[in-house]
Parts: sequence; structure tokens; C-alpha cells
Amino acid sequence: RDLIEKSGQTLAIRAAEKNLELACRVAPNLPDRWVGDPGRLRQVLINLIGNAIKFTDEGEVVVDVSKGKPHSSDPPGTTPLRFSIRDTGIGIPKDKQASVLDPFTQADASTTRRFGGTGLGLAISRQLVELMHGELELKSRPGQGTEFYFTAHFPLADEQVIDPKKELNRLAGLPVLLVDDN
Ligand code: ATP
Ligand code: MG
Repeated sequence: RDLIEKSGQTLAIRAAEKNLELACRVAPNLPDRWVGDPGRLRQVLINLIGNAIKFTDEGEVVVDVSKGKPHSSDPPGTTPLRFSIRDTGIGIPKDKQASVLDPFTQADASTTRRFGGTGLGLAISRQLVELMHGELELKSRPGQGTEFYFTAHFPLADEQVIDPKKELNRLAGLPVLLVDDN
């Protein structure tokens, strides 16, 4: 828990150091309680928000949480959550958009020197999202920005009841704004 709060503060500090706006917005119609694995959810969000900050020099990183599309295999009474992490960063070239989700793959070889990292963050995130019966997807326009999004459907083994707003607050070290969907 402490470690997670530190990662959250680190994300907020890193965004502030780069003069990036870091905003978290939660749809008003979300349930306050979600049954899932907070540790794994946090890990995915930390990876994706961390990437968004790392690969953005100017502008903003926006995290949106809304109700996800229900799936027939969802346990009764559970609401899937859709997360989107969008940045105004360097983007990912079209021909690399599929492969960056693979282990040890980075969009360009010079990226490692420029930004560091091993190319594992997204591969791990994808696996964790799949454990939540979702899929990690992305849209990106080179030079304009990138959006990663996924829906977390499912309680995992060590499920707990969590409040998504509090989780985000803790992660990003920022108050979460309630926004209207439309
Ligand atoms: P690690 O996460 O292991 O520290 P990494 O960040 O390079 O290293 P991944 O998180 O797996 O690895 O990302 C893979 C590659 O995808 C990155 O090296 C980068 O080229 C590209 N990428 C990921 N997220 C973004 C983003 N938000 N904007 C632009 N490129 C991105
Ligand atoms: Mg990464």
C-alpha cells in the first residue's frame, strides 16, 4: 500500500516536473464499489500512466473511467469498468501499434536510449487486463498522441471491494473530477 502511494506520488511528481497536466475523470454514474483485484488494476494503471508521462513532452495526460460494456459472462451484479489513458505525446507509428504490446518491443530502437525501459510494461499490462477478461487496445497518431483503453470485467482470485475514485486518487495523487459523459 505504501509502495503504491509512493508510485502514485511519483507519477504526479513526474508529470509536474514535465509541466504536464495530469487529470483523472470519473463518470458520475459509476458504482462506488467494484469487486476486483486492486493491486493488479493499480499495476496496469501505473504502467499506462507512467508511459503516457514518459512519452509526452507537452500537453496533458487524461485518465477517464466509465462504465464498460457488459459481457454475457460477467458475474451477476457486477459492473465492468472502462479505463482510458490518453496523452498528447509522441505517438506510435502505425506499423508498431500492434507489436508494442509484445514483450521487449519498443517503437523505435533509439527509444531505449532516449527514454530508458525494457519494453515489458505493456506486455505485463496486457496479460493483467486479460486476467480481468478484458483486452488492452490502443489508438495512436504519431506526433499527436496515444490512447490506451481496456475494460476490467471480472473479480480476480483475491478480490476486494474497492472504490475506483479513491484508487485513482491514490494513484495519481490528485483529486478525481466527476464529469458528465456527454
Ligand atoms: P518499461 O515499461 O519496461 O520500463 P517501455 O516503457 O519502453 O519499458 P512498454 O511500456 O512495454 O515499454 O512500451 C513499449 C513501447 O511502446 C515503448 O518503448 C514506446 O515505444 C511505446 N509506447 C508505449 N506507451 C506509449 C505512449 N503513451 N506514447 C508513445 N509511445 C508509447
Ligand atoms: Mg513502460
